[in-house]
Amino acid sequence: MNRSTSVEISLAALKHNYELVRRLTNNTRVIATVKADAYGHGAIETASALENLGVYCLGVAYTPEAVQLRCAGINKTPILVYFDLPDAADVIKYDLTPIVYGPGTAELYCEAALRQNRQIDIHVDIDTGMGRVGFLYDREIHRIRAIERLKGVRVTGFMSHFSEADLKDRSFAGLQLERYLHLRQELSGLFKDAIWHIANSAAVMSFPESHLDAVRPGLILYGSDSLEPACPRPDTVDFRPVMAVKSRILHIRSMPPGRSISYGRTFVTKRNTKVGVISTGYADGYPRALSNKAHVLVNGQFVPIIGRICMDVAMVDLTDCHDVKEGGEVVLIGRQGGREITASELAAWADTISYEILISLGRVNDRLYGNY
Ligand SMILES: *Cc1c(COP(=O)(O)O)cnc(C)c1O
Repeated sequence: MNRSTSVEISLAALKHNYELVRRLTNNTRVIATVKADAYGHGAIETASALENLGVYCLGVAYTPEAVQLRCAGINKTPILVYFDLPDAADVIKYDLTPIVYGPGTAELYCEAALRQNRQIDIHVDIDTGMGRVGFLYDREIHRIRAIERLKGVRVTGFMSHFSEADLKDRSFAGLQLERYLHLRQELSGLFKDAIWHIANSAAVMSFPESHLDAVRPGLILYGSDSLEPACPRPDTVDFRPVMAVKSRILHIRSMPPGRSISYGRTFVTKRNTKVGVISTGYADGYPRALSNKAHVLVNGQFVPIIGRICMDVAMVDLTDCHDVKEGGEVVLIGRQGGREITASELAAWADTISYEILISLGRVNDRLYGNY
């Protein structure tokens, strides 16, 4: 996008995280979630790296995301489409595996497949407590059974999704798993080819009983995690952040005490202050909610953002920072001089989740791929 914030994507860290998921799950199949442009990391680059690592399956939210991957030459790996209106033409043309989560959809795919003398593989979503999409675990079993009679579709998987597997209190996640396992017992005789999956990143890390036939992580592949601090983590987890985000010092000025900084005058200098203007603003995906809250790294030191973040620039207090120069590197996420800022920290300062931080910084800026 030719802006001056840059995003570095470490394919070495991605490989490390994928292998760690394999180890944590005793080599269970991995359905790698690459929706939303792989959480801002670049869907094509991420998915082809994962395909080369032998990933079992890829998961996207919408059909066009899957079509984009197929057109980029990612043709060896099945792609699950988590949501979307039924689109039999693209599903057949690009060999996609849609998730069916409501009545009528499987019938539609069946008719389209039979018209072309084909069979479409589908996975069926069961709502065990997420309350988003899926057949209700206790009310709609007869509808799921009816899918078995449709000759044009083959159910190759079942899925469900946790609503709070990131909490230390496992009681609701445990209840969801119990409901899911009960259904598996009821239905696996009828659907012999199906694999059963429910575990997202949080469950991969902290709920081994839920790993089943496949796991469906997103966030931990990118080296972040959403577990609340009290949640138990396996000893061996060292997921490495895949994304680093860097900016530049555009300009340095000396300000006396009593000068207000930026829109709304939310910060006023209290001393002789060396103010740095950095080349990142909310247009680059750096949330305005970080105004007066975030730190960045300059010369290996933590430096606070002062005043409101503008569209294209933001101000930092460089007074206690030695040897700073215009043009110098600013780290927004990542390491510098032995110190680190993570997406989770930024998320906490902005009162959001690391998913949103990664997606918003990763998607609008130029990405460089390497083995950082
Ligand atoms: C996003 C998503 C995932 C991955 O969630 P993470 O928390 O990133 O691991 C898995 N399954 C479904 C259906 C999703 O929508």
